[in-house]
Amino acid sequence: MPLTQTEITELASSVRASLTACGVTESAYGTDHDAFSPLTGERLAGLRTATNEDVDAAIAAAAEAFKTWRDVPAPLRGNVVKRWGELLTEHKQDLANIVQAEAGKITSEALGEVQEMIDICDFAVGQSRMLYGKTMPSERPGHRLMETWHPLGVVGIISAFNFPVAVYSWNTALALIAGDTVVWKPSGITFLSALAADALLARAVAESGAPKDIHRLVVTDRAGGQRLVKDPRVALVSATGSVRMGREIAPQVAERFGRVILELGGNNAAVITPSADLDLALRGIVFAAVGTAGQRCTSMRRLIVHESVVDQLTEKLVTAYGTLSIGTPLKEENLVGPLINEGSYEAMQQALADAQAQGGTVLTGGNRVLTDEFPEAYYVEPAIVRMSEQSAVVHNETFAPILYVMTYTDLDEAIATHNAVPQGLSSAIFTQDQAEAERFISASGSDCGIANVNIGTSGAEIGGAFGGEKETGGGRESGSDSWKAYMRQATNTVNYSGQLPLAQGVKFI
Ligand code: NAD
Repeated sequence: MPLTQTEITELASSVRASLTACGVTESAYGTDHDAFSPLTGERLAGLRTATNEDVDAAIAAAAEAFKTWRDVPAPLRGNVVKRWGELLTEHKQDLANIVQAEAGKITSEALGEVQEMIDICDFAVGQSRMLYGKTMPSERPGHRLMETWHPLGVVGIISAFNFPVAVYSWNTALALIAGDTVVWKPSGITFLSALAADALLARAVAESGAPKDIHRLVVTDRAGGQRLVKDPRVALVSATGSVRMGREIAPQVAERFGRVILELGGNNAAVITPSADLDLALRGIVFAAVGTAGQRCTSMRRLIVHESVVDQLTEKLVTAYGTLSIGTPLKEENLVGPLINEGSYEAMQQALADAQAQGGTVLTGGNRVLTDEFPEAYYVEPAIVRMSEQSAVVHNETFAPILYVMTYTDLDEAIATHNAVPQGLSSAIFTQDQAEAERFISASGSDCGIANVNIGTSGAEIGGAFGGEKETGGGRESGSDSWKAYMRQATNTVNYSGQLPLAQGVKFI
């Protein structure tokens, strides 16, 4: 719906211009849902949302398109993704503007998010020529034994607010080259980013001559998402979000024997050993703990520091935190943007209160700032809390910039503390001791899906598989051989012997 004259601010009109440049048409706007910006709290647009019938129709259309798309040769399917990548490159700034306004990211992170989309498109285009299956030696003469990888079906994508477009693109780029079709339910907090990313894909699909329903966006709430989760036509549900969400949907998909990729919450830590280069560690920690205002699934939330260096490191950290510029990401000098909403702010305050009740001491931060300038937005000082032990609050993911600092005396103890939380996404060790580094990334080291050495927990590249263990859900997306999750594997035995020898020497008729 058009904003009223008083609602049209500079931000709202620049977001509207970027949406139009990406190809979002008037038909997207309406009165069902208001999109807001966490930068200022202002309303950016009114949107139309999908009804349950619209969601069902989108699934039906994607299921129908699958019947054609699965037979298109994979390298030709790659052409759509290639064109999408080109359009994303052309409209990188437009899409980043929308992501920034809606998710509150600083400019380099908003641009970085779109770059990640471009990178996965490149990756997926190459992968479209490499959907390799193995050939194995058959134990029977005159037989060939091999595997083939076939398209799976409709992929339902459920995405979180904090990476409103990148994680969706990891799924979509791979699903499309795999021969699947997609139905996307984005976070209700970031519908505008979704509309823009989907409009660019629609252009790529049209220009490549692919069936138009290979992708469908459903601008819908959780109840609409539930229809995707429960529909047997959706072969794979790839869901990114909180552990709470995963706990709800995983049994629902299992009930109908569907497949899931779960990318859920993290509680990421770094171990800082006595030999660590503390200046390097400092930079790695500050980016991972404070970047995106602590609202990355890979944000660093725990520091496990050797007792011999803890005072030195915390002093450096507190000083570094004091230099961080907090404020609207529309100004280049600001490195810490807002929390997404009031609920996040309240969760942060609750966690800080709990931490203190559980023996913690706040070394710096935690206060809300800029309330006069932005009464409807939630800017906070990132907090560091010294904990005497890894108490209950430290076991939870609070989606805000709180870094809990704990100490250790020997590495076994540090690894045990590290692995004692229910989540298992990302981890790091800072050390100059090769044996310690190897131990940390070994089978008896970090139990996370991502284990880094001398680099923070966040900011992964698309080339590696991304995901985590335990309550993080076990899914893997993006690089390496994650593409296999979007395909079904068939084993083929071809007999060209003219005889019928049975396996394992079995004799029959
Ligand atoms: P959220 O769980 O509130 O919502 C995520 C998505 O799930 C949204 O689209 C939401 O509408 C949908 N949803 C929630 N419950 C549902 C249900 N019962 N049925 C169908 N859909 C449902 O998460 P959020 O606040 O948007 O994002 C933050 C969380 O996401 C954090 O926990 C963060 O760690 C996690 N996250 C994980 C990864 C990862 O790759 N592991 C990446 C980004 C974010």
